Amino acid sequence: MELSRLVSSVTPSATLEFNKKALELAKAGENVVKFTAGEPDFPTPRPIIDAAILALNEGKTKYTNATGIDELRKRISLKLKIDNGLDYSADEIVVANGGKQAIYNVLKAIMNPDDEIVIISPAWVSYEAQIRLCGGKPVIVESRIENGFVPEIAEIEKVLTSKTKGIIINSPNNPTGAIYPESFLRELAALSIERDFLVISDEVYEKLVFDAPHFSIGSVPGMKERTAVINAFSKTYAMTGWRVGYSATSLKLAKAVGKIQSHLVSNVNTMAQYAALKAFEVDTSDMVKTFKERRDFVVSRLNAMNMVFNNPSGAFYVFIDVRPYLGGRFKDSQEFAIGLLEEKKVGMVPGSAFIYEGFVRMSYSSSMEDLKEGLDRFEAFLREGK
Ligand code: PLP
Repeated sequence: MELSRLVSSVTPSATLEFNKKALELAKAGENVVKFTAGEPDFPTPRPIIDAAILALNEGKTKYTNATGIDELRKRISLKLKIDNGLDYSADEIVVANGGKQAIYNVLKAIMNPDDEIVIISPAWVSYEAQIRLCGGKPVIVESRIENGFVPEIAEIEKVLTSKTKGIIINSPNNPTGAIYPESFLRELAALSIERDFLVISDEVYEKLVFDAPHFSIGSVPGMKERTAVINAFSKTYAMTGWRVGYSATSLKLAKAVGKIQSHLVSNVNTMAQYAALKAFEVDTSDMVKTFKERRDFVVSRLNAMNMVFNNPSGAFYVFIDVRPYLGGRFKDSQEFAIGLLEEKKVGMVPGSAFIYEGFVRMSYSSSMEDLKEGLDRFEAFLREGK
């Protein structure tokens, strides 16, 4: 039997694969320091867990609306208003299984075969795969370290065609930690209005910002109808395993997204939705403070090693230039990351996983102790040269 050509055209998530490799080594008894994870190392806050237990005890164990429980969608609508200056009503919000499914739902709802979606590289692994799974074509615009990994409007404009359906942006960014300035987002908004394409704005790291504020492009006048705001509870509240995220879009798009949701999953796990509702009452400022301290530590260590990288203003990643270390023992970022894992037992993700050669992504979602140990080993690895 021939498999679907669309499915065959994508590879499994490379970040998850690298994480798995590091875990396997650890299981085999090796002392591995893992900087591969895309999730906070904190436990889910207790009030959220208690809310899920309460929901279970109260018998909230049945199907809900396909688009999510009313209370949660109303609370998300309020959050978007207060935090982001956005005007999406509860009916325009669809709760999905994480930010990941929220993005897929929106892509599926807007795309016809051969439609083009612009993505910015380095790009989070799943954008390209999801576009392909929807039968479309990812069009890649490279951002560069010289510009702090903020793409150039002129370069985006250059790739637009009559088939361009949308663009996916991600700020704060995985893997670079870049926060797109408001001026760039206003220019992109103007281009979206002029050339009529949807902006899918992935804001899952919104709350993990250290030096610059987060700005949502959907708040620019005229952009509400042409923005799909994507957010999730995963990173902000250390809830990666609960699988709760959402999209906020025009009502027309939300209805299409709701249809997909109803046929694919019926609804997001009921008690997880009640847990997510509780999350809005949780103060995460200590977690953000801890991430900032770690960021400062990692940046100072990498600077002391004379490494080149983008100073990360948000999220919990640093994208490190390893081009001077390629061309000898290691031909590319993949070989470099495998070498680092096998020789020094330090896990980082190769830039190739983000469609970007010559770099590796280090997640600093680890204890200070692990950061120290892992960076000592990384330094020793670099000292051995090409
Ligand atoms: N978007 C980006 C940029 C991410 O890094 C991730 C998770 O790694 C997601 C979306 C998906 O998040 P969730 O776990 O809520 O599906």
